[in-house]
Amino acid sequence: MSDDCIFCQIVAGEIPAHVVRETDTTLAFLDVNPLAPGHTLVVPKDHYERLSDAPSDVAADVFHEVYELVPRVESVVDADATTVGINDGAAAGQEVPHVHAHVVPRFEGDGGGPIHAVAGERPDLSDEEFEEIAEGISASHRT
Ligand code: 5GP
Ligand code: ZN
Repeated sequence: MSDDCIFCQIVAGEIPAHVVRETDTTLAFLDVNPLAPGHTLVVPKDHYERLSDAPSDVAADVFHEVYELVPRVESVVDADATTVGINDGAAAGQEVPHVHAHVVPRFEGDGGGPIHAVAGERPDLSDEEFEEIAEGISASHRT
């Protein structure tokens, strides 16, 4: 546990939250400032800042909980769809430095956008650049 981490404090029961699911390794609770009714966060119980800081089985557990939650949340708030996302790192908008997946219910005509709306200007990549990037990723190892 990281003492000054708000999500660690929620996991420890030191500050209240509307908990909706709990497993040995994960906790899911309602976002206190929701983008939509039913906006839920899934966190590993142990403190990891970025997704890749977590062991692979814990990361898999978080995604499994997202998988379990999406149809449940949609049905409870009568949503038409869901946006699932992780702000993984400060430059991506992460404000709480304890990795968490957002499950955001979506409704026809809710005025929101697709996940494509989150990045800045789109790059204009050449075929060579596509190839170089793809080869680099294929050949890479986790750092
Ligand atoms: P981030 O920008 O780090 O991906 O998102 C952090 C999310 O955590 C925000 O949507 C924010 O509303 C939510 N949040 C921040 N503090 C608390 C809290 O104390 N309790 C709960 N339930 N959610 C929180
Ligand atoms: Zn934490």
